[in-house]
Amino acid sequence: MNHNLINIHNLHATINNVPILQGINLTIKPGEIHAIMGKNGSGKSTLAKVIAGHPSYNITHGDIQFNGQSILNMNPEDRAIKGIFLAFQYPIEIPGVSNADFLRIAYNAKQKAYRQKELDPLSFFELINEYVKKIDMNPQFLSRNVNEGFSGGEKKKNEILQMILLDSKLGILDEIDSGLDIDALKNISTSINSILTNEKSVMIITHYQRILDYIIPNYIHIMEDGKIIYTGNAETAKQLEKYGYESIIDKQISNN
Ligand code: ADP
Ligand code: MG
Repeated sequence: MNHNLINIHNLHATINNVPILQGINLTIKPGEIHAIMGKNGSGKSTLAKVIAGHPSYNITHGDIQFNGQSILNMNPEDRAIKGIFLAFQYPIEIPGVSNADFLRIAYNAKQKAYRQKELDPLSFFELINEYVKKIDMNPQFLSRNVNEGFSGGEKKKNEILQMILLDSKLGILDEIDSGLDIDALKNISTSINSILTNEKSVMIITHYQRILDYIIPNYIHIMEDGKIIYTGNAETAKQLEKYGYESIIDKQISNN
């Protein structure tokens, strides 16, 4: 497939009048895996939230097109229905709401928007169980309250479950690897790999090269001060691990 799934053009965004994104250009085609790396505060999470439609940010320049259509005026719910999924860096706990109910409400909202059949709890349970198996998750997490008392790895897995359930076209995974030990990291990487298809794209935001040993990106972008200052391939991560961001940032400055 050759069309662009998402096309971000000269995007500038502010929060409380503070400029954060300062000219982002990024194109992702269906099936591509893009990693976004960069130091703390470089704007990675902001980029993720702006794509998902977080209301606190103001777009002051540029455009985001999804399947050829600008989404800047679209609310977060409609973006989600179009297939944009943001997995949070810190998934929230929702006491008093069972995970199965929560997932069914999200699923049915999407079904309704596409005038497809909504599912009753029983039929939904059958469907979700398939996915739970597919990503090797313990089914007991369906009957527990949303993320309540889940470990870091379990919360991240629950995000992946939502991503597959909602059949997202672009999954944005913000530091899905943070706080995970090596086994949990391998486990979540396997789950992510198991749901990837040549139509699903993912944007993996990460600090560490580690996860990119398991989920091999087509491109790695380095952010600094709200811009992408360097784009490389899977090898870039290894170079970063060895020499640090400064090696790339310095090279960019001396090239200018
Ligand atoms: P990253 O995910 O790369 O660590 P973020 O996107 O979270 O970076 O943050 C980018 C920058 O935006 C940081 O310098 C942060 O301090 C700033 N920022 C975030 N929220 C606000 C806010 N409400 N007001 C001012 N600056 C903010
Ligand atoms: Mg962040």
